[in-house]
Amino acid sequence: MVCAVGWFAKPTHPNTANIVSSKYLREFLDEMQPDQIREHLRKFTRLPHLAGTEQNLKYAEQIMKEWQEFGLDSVEMVPYDVLLSYPNKSQPNYIAIVDQLGDEVFNTSLAEPVPEGYEDISNIVPPYSAFSAQGQPEGDLVYVNYGRTEDFFQLEREMGINVTGKIVIVRYGRIFRGNKVKNAILAGAKGIIMFSDPADYWAAGVQPYPDGWNLPGGGAQRGNVLNLNGAGDPLTPGYPAKEYSYRFSLEDGVGLPKIPVHPIGFHDAVHLLKNMGGQIPPNNWKGGLNISYRIGPGFTDDFKSQKVRMNIHTNNQVTRIYNVIGRIRGALEPDRYVILGGHRDAWVFGGIDPMSGAAVVHETVRSAGRLLSKGWRPRRTIIFASWDAEEFGLLGSTEWAEDNAKLLQERAVAYINADSAIEGMYTLRVDCTPSLHTLVYDLTKQVSRFIHMQSNNICEFDRSKKHFLGSGSDFEAYFIRLGIAAGRARYTKNKKTERYSSYPVYHSVYETFEIVEKFYDPTFRRLQAVAQVRGGLIFLLADSQLLPLDANQYADSLRKYAQSIMQLAQRHPEEMETYEVSFDSLFSAVENFTVAARDFHVRLQTLNRVRVMNDQLMYLERAFIDPLGLPGRPFYRHVIFAPSSHNKYAGESFPGIYDALFDIENSADPEKAWEEVKRQISIAAFTIHAAAMTLIPPA
Ligand code: GLU
Ligand code: ASP
Ligand code: CA
Ligand code: ZN
Ligand code: ZN
Repeated sequence: MVCAVGWFAKPTHPNTANIVSSKYLREFLDEMQPDQIREHLRKFTRLPHLAGTEQNLKYAEQIMKEWQEFGLDSVEMVPYDVLLSYPNKSQPNYIAIVDQLGDEVFNTSLAEPVPEGYEDISNIVPPYSAFSAQGQPEGDLVYVNYGRTEDFFQLEREMGINVTGKIVIVRYGRIFRGNKVKNAILAGAKGIIMFSDPADYWAAGVQPYPDGWNLPGGGAQRGNVLNLNGAGDPLTPGYPAKEYSYRFSLEDGVGLPKIPVHPIGFHDAVHLLKNMGGQIPPNNWKGGLNISYRIGPGFTDDFKSQKVRMNIHTNNQVTRIYNVIGRIRGALEPDRYVILGGHRDAWVFGGIDPMSGAAVVHETVRSAGRLLSKGWRPRRTIIFASWDAEEFGLLGSTEWAEDNAKLLQERAVAYINADSAIEGMYTLRVDCTPSLHTLVYDLTKQVSRFIHMQSNNICEFDRSKKHFLGSGSDFEAYFIRLGIAAGRARYTKNKKTERYSSYPVYHSVYETFEIVEKFYDPTFRRLQAVAQVRGGLIFLLADSQLLPLDANQYADSLRKYAQSIMQLAQRHPEEMETYEVSFDSLFSAVENFTVAARDFHVRLQTLNRVRVMNDQLMYLERAFIDPLGLPGRPFYRHVIFAPSSHNKYAGESFPGIYDALFDIENSADPEKAWEEVKRQISIAAFTIHAAAMTLIPPA
């Protein structure tokens, strides 16, 4: 059965159909208007507002004031003092080609050409790699494609090239830039340059900004190059970065790269790459520039005497940041929290990242305020967050999670993330924990029905597909460290036809209000749809009598993940036999879980112990947390999901087993390696058993 107000007419919670609630939901979503979202975006993208700057504090104060005016019960500013990183204003960062006399014969640009209308704006930070080490390494270049683990394997194992003491140059895309830097360091490089290749940041048939939405040749991608593994502020891992907090020294900070790093655009990249010598790479290493893409090391014979020198003077600095936290007190269960959070800090104007998301949150708060004034009050407490310093390693959101961990682990029902609301123009994309699959499916179907999208692709949420949460945005500490059910939703591109990474102008000065208004969402209806999906999720999680979480979906997903990790292991049938590796315990745990989940949902239809069963649903995600964390990654504690060890943006299921199996055929000590696989299987099996037990009747 499908009907216009059939939010609850679904397998999970048929007995919660509640007309009053549905009427309010309808009003809540109807109130969110494209013009309003447009205004919010316009207002918060006029000036650069990098974390730690005065302008970002001003926007925080403005958001706090407007959330109060919209009618939230409370709004507070929550500061932390965290490690940030800025270029040195009197000693610019750049890369040079030097001749045999040591003279610089070519220098990369010091800034991006500023778009029309923004010429008089100060405080545009030039492209840089936040937290780069300082230094002026000089040497030969080696080109390593995207700098992925498999690219370095190919370089070292197949091409026989060692990058020790070299400067590697890699193209941006495919994986989180911090993983590229880590790989370069492990390989022995003394510097790393990242460039945006047109093959990855240029859509066919589209003009460069301002005539289209492609990245101009002078544009470059800023971004942090940390490997935090969920730690938050590098100097205060595990504890909030308050005034009195103990801080590690910079040498002992978490995740700081030991070599200089710098980003460039493709105009500059051509100069560094065009005279390179050495092997011709395989075709899939060649990008879209009109050069031959040699591997190196170094330049061709004609230019042999030339070297590359990086000049990096970026400073790390403990700096105050500000989260804005707003609340609507729950009427019946004030001690249960539903959180909508997204970051406010931007590399420059933040037209897409993050303000397209922040504008959506702002409109959600405005609409919730209107509903409050009409007499509505949600069953549970809703918390709205405007995070700071996401771009510097998810710092604001992680410090607040550390500060409030004891409350959150007892009381948080769900966390919905609100970073960029758009990265393409094609369809809605939702990534979430399996227990949210049913809710997302129902909600997106409803939203697509009552808004009028040009493309009707928004109700495509296919529960049989992978929707893993990876990382690289603020949900990380909530989901992967604390075990709070989480999800994210945004408009995205057509992955089949648009092969570029993220979106072309990502983290450049060209992320303006105008790029959204002219190209990404002229009617602001895509942003409206995202507001309705994010808002609808928050509303239903906060106001449904029975929590709209589905344990059966978790059971289905666990079975699929178990199948696929077993298949991975079965690529080594002999070793599995020799070392007696079996997945039986894992499948038996999944079976147990499946039965427990099925019985749970059957009881949910008849039993009347709402709070008890809601708590079982809420704590289900928590049950997948292992307090000891994953090997070497103490803040990644979710046994079912973690950011991939090779790409922070991607999610991996059964990450403990996956990492134990990774490259195991080249292990120096196969017996030990397979013992670790067995240990990880048993941890996964135990955790799923334990989670199943939380679903059975308490007594
Ligand atoms: N979203 C930011 C980026 O992609 C930060 C990600 C992170 O530090 O995890 O650069
Ligand atoms: N835009 C990135 C993401 O969507 C996060 C960021 O760079 O802020 O995950
Ligand atoms: Ca901390
Ligand atoms: Zn970003
Ligand atoms: Zn962002």
